[in-house]
Amino acid sequence: IYTNLIYREEDPIKVMGLVILIDDITEIRKLEKIRSEFVTNVTHELKTPLTSISGFVETLKSGEIEDEETQRRFLEIIEIETERLTRLINDILTLSEIENIKNKESKSMFNPSKALKEVESMMRPMASVKGIEFYFEIPGKLSYIKGNEDRMKQMVINLIDNAIKYTPNGGKVSFIIYERYGQLVLRVKDTGIGIPEKDIPRLFERFYRVDKARSKKMGGTGLGLAIVKHIVISMAGKIKVHSAGPGKGTEFVISLPRHQ
Ligand code: ADP
Repeated sequence: IYTNLIYREEDPIKVMGLVILIDDITEIRKLEKIRSEFVTNVTHELKTPLTSISGFVETLKSGEIEDEETQRRFLEIIEIETERLTRLINDILTLSEIENIKNKESKSMFNPSKALKEVESMMRPMASVKGIEFYFEIPGKLSYIKGNEDRMKQMVINLIDNAIKYTPNGGKVSFIIYERYGQLVLRVKDTGIGIPEKDIPRLFERFYRVDKARSKKMGGTGLGLAIVKHIVISMAGKIKVHSAGPGKGTEFVISLPRHQ
């Protein structure tokens, strides 16, 4: 709140008026808080693998470890942590790109079929390695959507990647896309570990994980769904999650406005 008394020029004792300016800064404060929490989280997330890398490098450098097998194990850990850092940095950059150039990014009308077929050929081998049954259905004819084709591809990849990650061997992952009431509906469904209802409202927050240890073991960065949410928003779409609870699978449903 800003206040200022206005005095009469010829008689400074007399008050002529009072200006009160009330600015609602709730939203600004909220954004500032989100930003500062993000910086704290990023710092923490980057520091963890770095601490581990420098610890193992120091130990190897000291020459104390003579056993070759142990040396190799340490090098493998360094490699895994380096890869984690790379993924983390890539995801942070992607997120900030989507946020910052949301409106400027090149958007065009495109038929999603081609990009989705590419997604299928990328993801099928990943599912197959885990012995997961992979069902992928694109109808012969699909309307156009407006947005950035690469981003749309990334959105579907992130969801299918999660579905495969969080579904135990022998489970099932499916992707379908169809048109309904002027919308293109995309559904990614799995028979995996499911998501407890209490976690669903926070799922799309950056670095939010239901089970941090499991996410890290799976190589997750905690940013995949935040990226998905921002891409959906940039395409004027909506995203919903359904999960029948732990162990009962999960389904993500995206609807995007269709263009004739
Ligand atoms: P991560 O890199 O940890 O996978 P995401 O942002 O992609 O991060 O997802 C956030 C969290 O949501 C995950 O850590 C996981 O707990 C949960 N999650 C996402 N997708 C699924 C799914 N298909 N089944 C079960 N849990 C999921």
